[in-house]
Amino acid sequence: MSLRPTVDFLLHEWLKVESLQSRERFADHSRETFDAVLDTCERIARDKYAPFNRLVDTQEPHFDGEKVILPQATHDAYKAYAESGMLSAAQDYEVGGMQLPYTVEAAANAFFAMASVSIGSGMLTSGNANLLMVHGTELQKQVFAANEFSGRFSGTMCLSEPQAGSSLSDVTTRATPDGADFEADALGARYRLKGNKMWISSGEHELSENIIHLVLAKIPDANGQLVPGVKGISLFIVPKKMVDTHGQLTGERNDVALAGLNHKCGWRGTTNTLLNFGEGKYPVRGEAGAVGYLVGKPGEGLRCMFHMMNEARIGVGMAATMLGMAGYYASLDYAKNRPQGRPTGAGGKDASQPQVRIIEHADIKRMLLAQKAYSEGALALALYSARLVDEQHTGTPEDADVARLLLEVLTPIVKSFPSEWCLEANSLAIQIHGGYGYTRDFPVEQYWRDNRLNMIHEGTHGIQAMDLLGRKVLMEKGRGLQLLAERMQATAAKAETHWAPEAAALRDALKQVGQATQQAWAGAQPAEALANAVPYLQAFGHTVIAWIWLDVANSLGEDNSPAAQGRRAACRYFFRYELPKIGAWLNVVSSRDATCADLPEDAF
Ligand SMILES: Cc1cc2nc3c(=O)[nH]c(=O)nc-3n(C[C@H](O)[C@H](O)[C@H](O)COP(=O)(O)OP(=O)(O)OC[C@H]3O[C@@H](n4cnc5c(N)ncnc54)[C@H](O)[C@@H]3O)c2cc1C
Repeated sequence: MSLRPTVDFLLHEWLKVESLQSRERFADHSRETFDAVLDTCERIARDKYAPFNRLVDTQEPHFDGEKVILPQATHDAYKAYAESGMLSAAQDYEVGGMQLPYTVEAAANAFFAMASVSIGSGMLTSGNANLLMVHGTELQKQVFAANEFSGRFSGTMCLSEPQAGSSLSDVTTRATPDGADFEADALGARYRLKGNKMWISSGEHELSENIIHLVLAKIPDANGQLVPGVKGISLFIVPKKMVDTHGQLTGERNDVALAGLNHKCGWRGTTNTLLNFGEGKYPVRGEAGAVGYLVGKPGEGLRCMFHMMNEARIGVGMAATMLGMAGYYASLDYAKNRPQGRPTGAGGKDASQPQVRIIEHADIKRMLLAQKAYSEGALALALYSARLVDEQHTGTPEDADVARLLLEVLTPIVKSFPSEWCLEANSLAIQIHGGYGYTRDFPVEQYWRDNRLNMIHEGTHGIQAMDLLGRKVLMEKGRGLQLLAERMQATAAKAETHWAPEAAALRDALKQVGQATQQAWAGAQPAEALANAVPYLQAFGHTVIAWIWLDVANSLGEDNSPAAQGRRAACRYFFRYELPKIGAWLNVVSSRDATCADLPEDAF
């Protein structure tokens, strides 16, 4: 079973991605160039990633007292990915990029996420460099971003601290001006950072010549106090090894020290670190304090960082989706080969007959179809959202603005739907394997462990839900929600001939979501409205995926191939087995049910 036909269908038959060629930025591209990128990524993922997915799970990164050791396979995969040019695929030709549409870049990266999510495809490095291309100075772009695009340097994002996870306003890492001439440094205003950053992915390794940390820290006010809230947060480039203005290593180590590696449930191929900034282990010019160069203006750190976080959220959604896909393909293969049980005929079971393969049982088909509906639906949504990113960058000002708002509303869903439901898909993949699925002899338990991270990082499920109901559907007087509703209505209108019951169900779901949004806020009390934000997120997500499936079904036309039959069945499955769940979820939202919120602690 190969992912490629699904990707090709979604990109070309459904999203008509070739139409982007009419944009000046993508004029040199064609189906051939898109195919060439996908071919290359598919090949590297097959040769350098997939065979080592179990190996990186069992040979966790370890610290030998000096260095973090990773398997050779990770080094080989990192090199192959960097050499493919994918780290700068969407960047301008002038900086060595391919000016590839983000839609195609995202599709190409899907192959790596499916082959081995934890070997990783450089999402943090390209996200870090992309941020610098938007908010950095010319020299910061040349010295740091350009070297990240080539793979010579790699990148991290350092937001979290032991005491500040969801609540970033509580970060306590301090940045103080480094000497009287601190503003005169060509690499950016120079500060000394002191503090601890927790959970930093790829925070220490030997894969690249240098590691470029993007760090959130607070600059104390005139009284030496940290400004409370997010307004006091600034963003700094903190290289692991000091560099000169040509990007050459000076030979001096910056004061960033590994305090420890975290040993995770899954996603073990990527190092995860606690980093101490400025503790004095590696004094720079005889002084403790990690040297950091300011990016953008003081106090605008979180705004700049959001540039990276939004990309990262689509990336996380894609990772969760591809783990769902990996489990689907593995369990489909297993179900086609495992003989077990006999069909129940009118007279019961006939033990003299040979066993059937489990794929012949209706319940196994149910679990396969659920996985397909969650994972392929989520992939379609991720690519649709990536297409909106391209629209935002290359569309007319009006279209770009519409795309921006749609992305605002859809990003929590792109991240959260697959994090929850493709994890459920992985659980179903284990179920299909029976006892074998619960062992390490089959890959599905690893997919589940790897996927369990996605509801936690890049904004937990709860935080995403509050962002959706508390901010995104309200912003600009609800215009984003309105624009999304218009698109859903257009899909329903198109579906009227061949999919009338589904078109009606989608309209009804949309109405329910709209009413629940209003009723949640009818009391005008945020705590009351947001108490059931997660059920709201679930209902919203299911409505979005129902819409996506109906839109996909609309695009199938008269095609009656097995693949088209499968997509129609997944659409029907989603409307019949999944969409009706939104009623229960929205009930507690609309009634502002306080069963959970009001329960006193002692009653637990
Ligand atoms: C493997 C891994 C990799 C990571 N990589 C990085 C990285 O590269 N860089 C980085 O900066 N961070 C990284 N993180 C950190 C990650 O983003 C945080 O774990 C996440 O933001 C949650 O923070 P926390 O763990 O402190 O949990 P907490 O914030 O303590 O949350 C605990 C629980 O409380 C809930 N909660 C918190 N606040 C509220 C509220 N106001 N209302 C309702 N519920 C609430 C949460 O939803 C959650 O369920 C990583 C984490 C992991 C596990």
